[in-house]
Amino acid sequence: RILKRQMLCRNDIDRLNAPFLAIYDSLIPAEEEKAKQKQLLTLLEKLVCKEWPKARLYLYGSCANSFGVSKSDIDVCLAIEDADINKPEILLRLADILQSDNLQNVQALTRARVPIVKLMDPVTGISCDICINNILAVINTKLLRDYAQIDARLRQLAFIVKHWAKSRGVNETYQGTLSSYAYVLMCIHFLQQRRPAILPCLQEMETTYSATVDDIECAFFDQVEVLRNFGSCNKETISQLVWAFFNYWAYRHDYANSVISVRTGSILSKHAKDWTRRIGNDRHLICIEDPFQTSHDLGRVVDKHSIKVLREEFERAAYIMQCDPNPCVKLFEPY
Ligand code: ATP
Ligand code: MG
Repeated sequence: RILKRQMLCRNDIDRLNAPFLAIYDSLIPAEEEKAKQKQLLTLLEKLVCKEWPKARLYLYGSCANSFGVSKSDIDVCLAIEDADINKPEILLRLADILQSDNLQNVQALTRARVPIVKLMDPVTGISCDICINNILAVINTKLLRDYAQIDARLRQLAFIVKHWAKSRGVNETYQGTLSSYAYVLMCIHFLQQRRPAILPCLQEMETTYSATVDDIECAFFDQVEVLRNFGSCNKETISQLVWAFFNYWAYRHDYANSVISVRTGSILSKHAKDWTRRIGNDRHLICIEDPFQTSHDLGRVVDKHSIKVLREEFERAAYIMQCDPNPCVKLFEPY
């Protein structure tokens, strides 16, 4: 009887596959949006090269990691190899150049945590942030994009989790909740942990790509075409995975002792990382290790108040997946 009940539950949850996939499809950016992004990047490259002939521009963040929903802003990194560059000076000069080319709302934020120039292109309607020499972000963007190519369920799960987090107001680092980058890492780690595993651990495999940035060695396996069948022994569907993801973060994750680590594809202990107590503003109440900057906890923005908000949201989502007659609507209700 128990087996029958479990099978019933499974069939029940599988009824949600079609609506979840429909939500996923509705969030994917159209090809024409990608073309507009390219058009803006080409314009920016032309302007930048006139001033700094050796500089290069890279897209990073959601417009390049394949986890971007439609109508997102784009993130651009200006790479200048000059050792003694003065970032504020370059940002101000860049803002000047962009303004004289009729780009709109140009603003240099030289004192932000990550200093940037913001702009809006009236031709394509796209807004854009440009930072300088944030090469680690360009490399972690590649890591995320490479993971996305291995199993389609990662992109589906991450779109749904990001959409949920935005709808529920828990994707705001300035309010102590998590960044989109952190949510995608949670999804990757979750799929690495399924049995059979749906994703491998690229940083534990043979190195086919490597770069050293600020003394940090970034090395991983990036020939992901050969991994296309990696997760095929695991037949879990998107609705089962969404259910299990929220169930994990609501009831199963050991917040007191565990650190999730995409780098090792495993759970590490807070103790081993010396993340057991508050140091400065880092409280380590939910621990997500950055895959390259391993001393960096992406949960460090979370405080005493926001950890409660986050955990209640995970519990709400888990409850809805389990009991609500219409989870695909209820899950994303504005808070
Ligand atoms: P969204 O769709 O919400 O714009 P996004 O993928 O652009 O999502 P963000 O969290 O805005 O995600 O981050 C943009 C990029 O900046 C990430 O893809 C990552 O490369 C980099 N990044 C963001 N936060 C960190 C961090 N704490 N440490 C290292 N890199 C980060
Ligand atoms: Mg972004």
